Amino acid sequence: MITASPLSAQQSPSKDWRHHWRESVTDARELLNLLGLDALTESLPDADAGFAVRVPRSFIARMRHGDPRDPLLLQVLPQLAECDETPGYAADAVGDMDARSAHGVLHKYRGRALLIASGACAINCRYCFRRHFPYGEEIAATAGWREALNYLRTHQDVEELILSGGDPLALSTAKLTELTTQLDALPHVRRLRLHTRLPVVLPERIDDTLIAWLNSLALQKVVVLHANHARELDETVAAACTRLRAAGVTLLNQSVLLRGVNDDGDTLCDLSSRLFECGVLPYYLHQLDRVQGAAHFEIDDARALELLAHMRDRLPGFLLPRLVREVAGDPAKRPVERP
Ligand SMILES: *Cc1c(COP(=O)(O)O)cnc(C)c1O
Ligand code: SF4
Repeated sequence: MITASPLSAQQSPSKDWRHHWRESVTDARELLNLLGLDALTESLPDADAGFAVRVPRSFIARMRHGDPRDPLLLQVLPQLAECDETPGYAADAVGDMDARSAHGVLHKYRGRALLIASGACAINCRYCFRRHFPYGEEIAATAGWREALNYLRTHQDVEELILSGGDPLALSTAKLTELTTQLDALPHVRRLRLHTRLPVVLPERIDDTLIAWLNSLALQKVVVLHANHARELDETVAAACTRLRAAGVTLLNQSVLLRGVNDDGDTLCDLSSRLFECGVLPYYLHQLDRVQGAAHFEIDDARALELLAHMRDRLPGFLLPRLVREVAGDPAKRPVERP
């Protein structure tokens, strides 16, 4: 039951993205039950291996009923293997704690500063580095973005502001507006980039208010989506992408190469083609960050390069993502190359 509140009085709650957020499935047993996979319940780890389950219902609706190997399901279902201690896998795999420049600010690369805008995500991806990052204390949006704005004021070399997280679109549009109105006083910041999975996993977030905010910005706008499989991109996602593009946003996508999900040449080609149908260009194909609990998803570099070669043989150059890995201390993402 949804009770009426002053906020929902003007807008039907069924149309508010927060309603869909709240309705997400947060129990692995319920997830399996919805997919007719109750038999798998026995192979769940205890207590979700220290990282909660969270999946929006519209994302579950894109999974194949009764298929334990479904590539969307595998991204969100806790596995016993997450409890394995794997040598070489760390809690902070990409040196984020060392790169912290101010409250919620990561300034690793020249000209680009990244804000951990929000600690929340609409979906919990089992392979994510976020399972260990102490986001609670590191949110740039706290205190009216004060520390982040101070940092930008004293770093005139920053041309591009990247909002990441967590998911920056987990913030209200009012909170985002609070940041961008203050950016007017910082003309050296010319580009605004959002790294977000929300248009894919909860496309309801791309609502009128968000589009009006994007339209109001004088900044150049880039949205980097995160989809790993063509089946994530249904018609509701395509419609959200169309709205973003109409608001003057350049749309890119990053994927993570994941065992069992997309470690197949044709699957990756299909993803690139489907992205382009949605008006999105493939940007990065990431090698997994070596975070504790995600080792079972890893693909070795030799295999990753084979998959890239397969794509290069079949796709136009503009649909070929850059295969990269993040290495702590590097000045940019590092291309994966033949050893
Ligand atoms: C990945 C990343 C960026 C963006 O890198 P691009 O190569 O420009 O996409 C910026 N800052 C940090 C801290 C990053 O991790
Ligand atoms: S940060 Fe991105 S990859 Fe990680 S859990 Fe959130 S949506 Fe998934």
